[in-house]
Amino acid sequence: MDKLLKIPIENVPMVGPIYAKRLKRLGIKNSLDLFYHFPFRYEDYSLFSTIAQTQPNEIVTIRARVFSINNEYTKRGKFIQKAVVFDNTGKMEIVWYNQPFILKNIEKGQEYQFSGKISFFANTKVMEVPEYETIINKRFDDFIHTGRLVPIYNETYGLSSKWLRSRIKSILTKYADLIEDFLPQEIKRQEKLLGLKEAIKIIHFPKNLKLSQMAKNRLSFDELFLVQLKAKQRRLMWKQNKKGYKFRVDNQKVKKLIDSLPFELTSAQKRAVDDILNDLNQVKPMNRLLEGDVGSGKTVVAALAAYVGFCNNYQIAFMAPTEILANQHYHTIRKVLKGIKCNISLRTANIKDDIKKSGIIIGTHALISDSMQFEKLGLVIIDEQHRFGVRQRGIIERKGRYPHVLTMTATPIPRTVTLVCFGDLDLSFLDELPKGRKRIKTWVVPNEKRQKAYDWIRSKVKKHTQQAFIICPLIEESETLNSIKAATTEYKRLSQKVFPDLKLALLHGRMKSLEKRKILTDFRNGKYDILIATPVVEVGIDIPKATIMVVEEAQRFGLAQLHQMRGRVGRSNLESYCLLFYQSSSIKVAKRLKAMEKIYIGAQLAELDLKLRGPGELYGFKQHGVADFKLANFSDKKLVESAQKAASSIITNDPYLNHNLQLKELCEDNVKYVSPN
Ligand code: ADP
Ligand code: MG
Repeated sequence: MDKLLKIPIENVPMVGPIYAKRLKRLGIKNSLDLFYHFPFRYEDYSLFSTIAQTQPNEIVTIRARVFSINNEYTKRGKFIQKAVVFDNTGKMEIVWYNQPFILKNIEKGQEYQFSGKISFFANTKVMEVPEYETIINKRFDDFIHTGRLVPIYNETYGLSSKWLRSRIKSILTKYADLIEDFLPQEIKRQEKLLGLKEAIKIIHFPKNLKLSQMAKNRLSFDELFLVQLKAKQRRLMWKQNKKGYKFRVDNQKVKKLIDSLPFELTSAQKRAVDDILNDLNQVKPMNRLLEGDVGSGKTVVAALAAYVGFCNNYQIAFMAPTEILANQHYHTIRKVLKGIKCNISLRTANIKDDIKKSGIIIGTHALISDSMQFEKLGLVIIDEQHRFGVRQRGIIERKGRYPHVLTMTATPIPRTVTLVCFGDLDLSFLDELPKGRKRIKTWVVPNEKRQKAYDWIRSKVKKHTQQAFIICPLIEESETLNSIKAATTEYKRLSQKVFPDLKLALLHGRMKSLEKRKILTDFRNGKYDILIATPVVEVGIDIPKATIMVVEEAQRFGLAQLHQMRGRVGRSNLESYCLLFYQSSSIKVAKRLKAMEKIYIGAQLAELDLKLRGPGELYGFKQHGVADFKLANFSDKKLVESAQKAASSIITNDPYLNHNLQLKELCEDNVKYVSPN
């Protein structure tokens, strides 16, 4: 269908070169793009009324004949266009402001539909600035500006809704029948979806809101479905083209190691281990993402995978984004593999163990330096995968011959987003914290309790020698002079007025890194009691006595973001706390923040954010390369899942889409992906 429908925009009837240019700036290059330029809302002009029955403040459509129409100046000197119109029940005035061209469009003696709001001026009903449309030669379906749900488009670049409406209507009439549906009948039936042609017609010109919703549903489904279909196809081809190493999994040995751990695996960990061992046991290289909050126990899971690799005589590379994390992993993994004769070494900028005889090599970016040579690299584990670019991942993967790859992330993303955006990876979720884990006690603190909270912090700091962070409001997305100023002002206020008896320090992102490091070191050594910081500063990772996290103006943050901030305390066995101050009298705001007191899983909070505030507010949304949807909504879990199901079933039955050439064409960009360099 595409070729037929892709009429260059300048050749579309009644689109001249000027408009073609404007449309192109909106990304509309051909008639098909115009079909897919959806309205963002509808004006409801579907209520018809006789003139006599109109009510003030009502938005209605009347059918009336024009008795007179003139330019006039009001007493106050305003230039208006005034018409008097009538029907069988009476007459009425209509006004426009400063639109003299109206007189060219509306003819005396002719009948029109007028849609607009009825106002009351000096005891007379007047229709203000209505849309109008001649009724000559028109059936109901032919009206597009009046007497119905009227589509409103984003009006930019000198393209009015009215203009778009009539062009879209005309191409729908001419070409809509050429639209062919790429969804198999079976899927449409199962998911109760409208046909594509119908859906496109309806979304522009719906008879009622219910139908527009159905159209939106079908077209949203398409967006979710196509993204996932492409991802699944990529995933399949990635695997089909690559032959890696099949690891033998000795279940007995694995069980023995698990039994030797000082704790029992959570059921989420068990599921993830099963997923991973199953992957390792295939010739196709694993490509899996393990998602779980800080503290959900990803490292142990990774250590078990590494152990299986080691038992198969392969080298394992474990890459972490910072030296501190690499060190931590090194110690954790050594602990887990305590009884096993496996050489584990560390490679960072400062530590250069000889890795010749190592089974497991843990390190930072140093692992991808040119001088690093592995022997039989069978498994690559990447922690905090979003912090490494695709290129860096590629380099480490190429140090072996199709090694298995396990990536891990603690960034809270709603599960639906993960499904859609990481559809080319296999996914395991650690959506459960280990038993007995101390939760960071969280309180939402209203302004009237602020003083009390300060007193409480003081007592904690004084009596128990604990330390606190106070995070100042996020004013703009990145650290700007404004947020630094806010933090500086707050620092002054707190040190002079609130905690004159305590030692405070200030930390923000524009400080030199030497200065930052000194402040953090001094803080760790107990020179300060409270550290005031801007949100961008990563604090707390290795400050065990920091047990209190205070966030100012918490309402400005997403819940997932707050969750990550609170994760910066609670790194020791001391009880830890998070206090959320907020500035708002809205009950909704307080209620949203209250979720922090009850929910302790990052992904769940992210999901709630998505539901309450929409994708724009999602932390790091952009950086995850989330698909740019026109209609689809990630919080529509059901639709995301049914689109996923549909994509899976198609790819399973017809991986190359040879039985659906339209879909094949839509997925074409995948072909480029499959044959890299
Ligand atoms: P993550 O990398 O997901 O942030 P870690 O793997 O570093 O988490 O685990 C955090 C801590 O929890 C470690 O000290 C680890 O030994 C411990 N741990 C892991 N799994 C469990 C479990 N099932 N029960 C109790 N403690 C666990
Ligand atoms: Mg970790």
